[in-house]
Amino acid sequence: MPDPLSSNIQYLKPSETVAISNETKRRRALGEDVLDLSVGEPDFDTPPVAAQAGIQAIERGMTRYPPNVGIPELRAAIARRMSLLSGGRPVNADNILISSGSKHSIFNTCFTLFGPKDKVLIPAPAWVSYPQIVHLCRAEPILVHGAPEWGLKVSPADLERHTDKLVRGLIICSPCNPTGAVYTKTEIKAIAEWARKHDVWVIADEIYREISYGTGPAASFLDLPDEYLERTVLIYGASKAYAMTGWRIGGALAPNHLFKAMAALQSHMTTGANHPAMWAAAAAFSDERVEQDVQRMVAAFRRRRDRVVERFRTEAPGVEYVEPHGAFYFFFRVDGVPLGEGKGGGQAFCDQLMAKEGVALVPGAAFGDDRWVRMSYAVSDKDLESALDRILRFIRTQSSQRAA
Ligand code: PMP
Repeated sequence: MPDPLSSNIQYLKPSETVAISNETKRRRALGEDVLDLSVGEPDFDTPPVAAQAGIQAIERGMTRYPPNVGIPELRAAIARRMSLLSGGRPVNADNILISSGSKHSIFNTCFTLFGPKDKVLIPAPAWVSYPQIVHLCRAEPILVHGAPEWGLKVSPADLERHTDKLVRGLIICSPCNPTGAVYTKTEIKAIAEWARKHDVWVIADEIYREISYGTGPAASFLDLPDEYLERTVLIYGASKAYAMTGWRIGGALAPNHLFKAMAALQSHMTTGANHPAMWAAAAAFSDERVEQDVQRMVAAFRRRRDRVVERFRTEAPGVEYVEPHGAFYFFFRVDGVPLGEGKGGGQAFCDQLMAKEGVALVPGAAFGDDRWVRMSYAVSDKDLESALDRILRFIRTQSSQRAA
């Protein structure tokens, strides 16, 4: 018998999205024609100015241990960027902790705030790692399901139904992975009021904030006055809007006492983020040329979003979906699609779609609701059209089999 592993990891499951992506790569390596719309990664290269700044950092010898909390240039660049996106409100760079991707920022935050007996509310469907991270802190994740007619977003009333004295935190993602829904400023304020009333910490994951299809960036907790932010941690990162997933740079803006504890934790875990990558990210967050690259990428995502919505609306009129206002995901409902032998739901849909049409999507089960599936449109226009052809054909074929 193998040695038992620690109870620290009793709930640990590998990331479903990473597993699907690996399976797709495996099939491709065997020569199969597979289109991968499962990944949460921009299909664009890192903006050249940012990449060059990383190369120069290596050439300048920025290859030794970095400051644990992050290089001042990057902390200041993120503070400026956050401030700019929120109408010039002051943001204190001293309270920003840079980590190895925003996933690590979220881990640092949760591990520092939550422990045994604490409950953490997570609006669902939710990004796969939130419940796992909460479990790793030995706290209890509680999924709070949003209403379909409301883009699957949650309201304070939904949260209230799950609130008791043990609830210590809320992890909220807007623009949302996996739905693309975006909370309005009014909705954010109402949630902040609920959190204040119950002394609940809010972890606002705003990594997709700049990928927004309204006018300007998506609304943020940072748009609220200071008194709402005493128990709020803002999560930000370079991966998505800046196409820098492999550089592994993220950040958390936290109240001072929490920031210090998170920095101490990080000093024992990673000794800070990758040093040259921080220089690359500093350029990304501050150089105007990168800003133009970001705008170009967001314009491409918007065009693809429009295309996906139009094709679903016209070619699969019975299929319900969440209207995407940000990020690069399309979340649609498949529990009405007949899959034979009484089968239904996201997992069976994705398995059969892969087998019959060679398209990889992520079952909603990964996000806490298997009536749906997630499609990423961060792929080339050509692959997107071809994937849409296949997905819509699959839905049509399955539906006509039932009718027959
Ligand atoms: N939050 C959300 C909602 C995400 O979708 C992701 C990446 N899939 C992350 C955080 C983590 O991003 P990273 O660690 O690359 O900054």
